Amino acid sequence: MSKIKKIAVFTSGGDAPGMNACIRAVVRTALYFGCEVAGIKQGYQGMIDNNIEDMNRHSVSNIMQLGGTILKTARCLDFKTDEGMQKAYDNLKKNGIEALVAIGGDGTFTGAERFSGKYDIPVICVPGTIDNDLYGSDFTLGFDTATNTVIEAIDKIRDTAESHDRLFFIEVMGRDAGCIALRAGIAGGAEAIMLPEKDTAIHELIEMLEHGAAQKKSSSIVIVAEGDKNGGAFSVAKKVKEMFDFYDTKVTILGHLQRGGSPSSFDRILGSRMGFAAVKALLKGENRKMVGLRSNEIVLTDLKEALTDHEFKLEEDLMEMSTILA
Ligand code: ADP
Repeated sequence: MSKIKKIAVFTSGGDAPGMNACIRAVVRTALYFGCEVAGIKQGYQGMIDNNIEDMNRHSVSNIMQLGGTILKTARCLDFKTDEGMQKAYDNLKKNGIEALVAIGGDGTFTGAERFSGKYDIPVICVPGTIDNDLYGSDFTLGFDTATNTVIEAIDKIRDTAESHDRLFFIEVMGRDAGCIALRAGIAGGAEAIMLPEKDTAIHELIEMLEHGAAQKKSSSIVIVAEGDKNGGAFSVAKKVKEMFDFYDTKVTILGHLQRGGSPSSFDRILGSRMGFAAVKALLKGENRKMVGLRSNEIVLTDLKEALTDHEFKLEEDLMEMSTILA
């Protein structure tokens, strides 16, 4: 174990449920191993503004069940400049901080990768984003909770869809990755799922809906990922309506409610495991790595590799199953 005296933790980029569990784990693991801990508020912005506070066991009491992040998050353009990075480094040094745990998405990782390449402060990153689109981990923090939130919404919309024989289009988050759409669509029994990864033509969607109608389904729910190639739920609904005006179509955009809420047990445990592993990795002398979960094992991936453009693939078996079971 190395002699790191003080570790700082921060959250950056988009918030995600489970980040607080991770902060708690970082703080308590570091204290357990005899390190001091600080929390940096508002991500890289807080580093530049010296918005840094020492933390103790009690700083993270009673936060596990909270969505969002107690350390707040921000997007910070200054950190992309040499001057911004230098200010951040000077403030870290002033506070005696010798290592960092960064919780965020690929933007956060890019900043961490550049920073730790330039200065003598090791960084371990934790993937926190509801999109589940980062290389090196089967799951990211917040994805499970967001999917559960979407399923709850589908169940509620199904009640009204059933009562009125309506066709609902529900748009969920996922600009580049359809992870939430695919899983929530399967778990919510959607009649069709439109994904960024799959070109589903409108006539194919109509065929799926007609297949449902032939089986006397009284309501239909189509899940549309925001990055679907037809242009999102409003656009899909409009195109369907143009071809079949007898459908009574409704559109619901779930938007930011998918980001909030108390984390699921899965995200609380994942956050705890990742925070625990991040501190242990730093103390073992690791640097510029991302903590991930693969086949239920905690693994480290080089940040450079995590940030390389890997072709993102949804699970083939889920894709196949989703159409057969609908
Ligand atoms: P996420 O981490 O969720 O992908 P962003 O893309 O907004 O969110 O990134 C979070 C922050 O990471 C940015 O606001 C910026 O401060 C920092 N960052 C992103 N890209 C870079 C970069 N190329 N160099 C330095 N910092 C960066």
